Amino acid sequence: MKYRAEIWNCGTHGNFKTKSLQPKCPVCKTKKVSYKRRHTKNKTELYEEAISKWGKEFQILMVIEEMAELTQALIKYFRGKKPFENSYNIAEEMADVEIMLEQLKIICGNAPLIELQKEKKLKKLQKLLEEKNESHKTQY
Ligand SMILES: [Mg+2]
Ligand SMILES: [Zn+2]
Repeated sequence: MKYRAEIWNCGTHGNFKTKSLQPKCPVCKTKKVSYKRRHTKNKTELYEEAISKWGKEFQILMVIEEMAELTQALIKYFRGKKPFENSYNIAEEMADVEIMLEQLKIICGNAPLIELQKEKKLKKLQKLLEEKNESHKTQY
């Protein structure tokens, strides 16, 4: 059985990785080490890191690129090319677009405005759906 290398910490010599079940500091050999839980970055942390690493402009380009990929996947679906594979592909591209839109929200800092717009548009949609016998040519 193989153990995953875990991160341990010696109070004096910092972090070290080992698969040993009885770890000791590689420098002072002390066995009084503590387990350090791997920090799982949350979505916002990851997005902010990506934006500062690659820059706002590049990430905006990525939004455009991912939207184009989703467009292409949807067109393929309508053309009936490999329906099963395509639906998996659509899920993948939808995930990409959602991830990039979430980053765009951080870049633009307009999350509250988006919520406000969604609220307005959903109210409008509800009104349209309640208007019986009316044509819904202008939905949005
Ligand atoms: Mg993609
Ligand atoms: Zn040590």
